[in-house]
Amino acid sequence: MSETIQQADELRGKALALLLNERSAIDERLRLLGYDGTAPQPRQRVCTVCGDSAHNARTCPNKKTGAEAPATQSV
Ligand SMILES: [Zn+2]
Repeated sequence: MSETIQQADELRGKALALLLNERSAIDERLRLLGYDGTAPQPRQRVCTVCGDSAHNARTCPNKKTGAEAPATQSV
């Protein structure tokens, strides 16, 4: 029984070593990318017309009505 625990401990140690190794590699890459310790915010969905996140381009109150409509009806 204790042998099993020892083996599990060994595996855990190896896993930790691997992960720590990976982490230092990732840290290095983060440094190269100019990572300053703060994760970039996930891109928020914002209105493409005015940039407000409270609505989208379709419901934008700042959109000039008719400006983007294709002129298929003229002539
Ligand atoms: Zn808008």
